[in-house]
Amino acid sequence: MSDGAIIEEFILEPGTGKAIEILQGQKLRIEQLEGGQCADFNCFNLHDYKEFFHTGRTRHMHGLHPTKGDFLWSAPPRERPMMYILEDTTGTNDVLYPRCSAFLYEFQYGLPVHTNCHDMQAEAQREFGLTPDDVHDSFNFFMHTGVDSDGRPYIARQTAKKGDYVELIAMFDVLAVPNVCGADVMATSDFSFKPLRIVVSMSNEAEREMIPRIPILGSQRKPKDFRNAVIKADRELQRDLSYRPEFINYPIQTKELEITLSDEEYEALQALKGTGNYGKTDGEALRYIFFSWWIEKFMKGPKHFEDLKT
Ligand SMILES: [Zn+2]
Repeated sequence: MSDGAIIEEFILEPGTGKAIEILQGQKLRIEQLEGGQCADFNCFNLHDYKEFFHTGRTRHMHGLHPTKGDFLWSAPPRERPMMYILEDTTGTNDVLYPRCSAFLYEFQYGLPVHTNCHDMQAEAQREFGLTPDDVHDSFNFFMHTGVDSDGRPYIARQTAKKGDYVELIAMFDVLAVPNVCGADVMATSDFSFKPLRIVVSMSNEAEREMIPRIPILGSQRKPKDFRNAVIKADRELQRDLSYRPEFINYPIQTKELEITLSDEEYEALQALKGTGNYGKTDGEALRYIFFSWWIEKFMKGPKHFEDLKT
């Protein structure tokens, strides 16, 4: 497929969502047709739906408002970059609020019948055999949120204008599920519903080169690493009488290590310790140094975009 070629293009109407296969290196664009519309979004590994986008890890890595240059990460224990945000012309996204649901509108607004993101996600992904229990917390594109001085989250009015868009590159084959957020009784989409434009296209080499280097680590576990890799098909939970615990890295082992530092290194260690932010003992401050060393190495890791194929 030639770079930049459009693969699919359609309008996502209010009240709906769509599950779309985005293959590795393909781009998904979500664009404002009128402005001021939130798009809830989820994605799954196309070849293993148990690996899915995780708001928690993404929030940890990139903060409450991930934007251009950030990744959408999968849930532990997989924890791989699933999609890369190549462009974001608005810069207001949210990974703090969960998807809206039927319960929310009935409980908080007295509306027993109302469009909602959970039901839209569930219906869209039903096309691929997934159930309502397989919907996960969403990435809320264009949603303008913050946290007040008391630590409470709030939703502000939209800043997304007509023509604003986000563009994501798939790091491996994914099933992407965008939907037009079903909230018209709050500021999420400025109290009304508007359609969104969806475009799937092939990225070009320059765009793929923009993706930062992320190493592939043994701690990013795969089903072959699981003690139980079988997906449970029935609903009842029952004790396995043959179960014997085998916790990883247990019992925990500790070992005293002697470390030789140059005068310069020792001085730097004492300075670090003196800030009071990195522990009270030499050993505690050293842990921080190891961490910094790892980050340095991490940033110089090998380019591996092609190696992420599942
Ligand atoms: Zn919603």
